[in-house]
Amino acid sequence: MRPSPSNSPEAPGERPAPLAAGLGGLCPRCGARTLYAGWLRFEPRCPACGLDISAFNVGDGPAAFLTLILGTAVVVAAVALELSVSPPVWVHLLLWPPLTLAAVFASLRVAKAWLLALEYRNLPPP
Ligand SMILES: [Zn+2]
Repeated sequence: MRPSPSNSPEAPGERPAPLAAGLGGLCPRCGARTLYAGWLRFEPRCPACGLDISAFNVGDGPAAFLTLILGTAVVVAAVALELSVSPPVWVHLLLWPPLTLAAVFASLRVAKAWLLALEYRNLPPP
């Protein structure tokens, strides 16, 4: 679903750069820290400026992209650890699953907000 043109008008706040919006969970229109209702769930509407956040659809893009990046990084790190120290298997079992989960949850929040901010920036003019 395309965001409605009513999402385009300028709001009173300062419009943040997309990466800054991603890192801080900022509304892409007013810059208020109101983008998230939970850790990974967007607010339906910005409480500060009224931007209809539910009209944007970042889809699975961030998750698929992060799966490839983090999967590669974790496998490379696990192979490097195995080749350098050769720890027992239980070290790998205790180390990599929680590390992978933590990295996914931390980076998914940033990636979703960043993609939403880019989507907002690239809206066609009203
Ligand atoms: Zn806002």
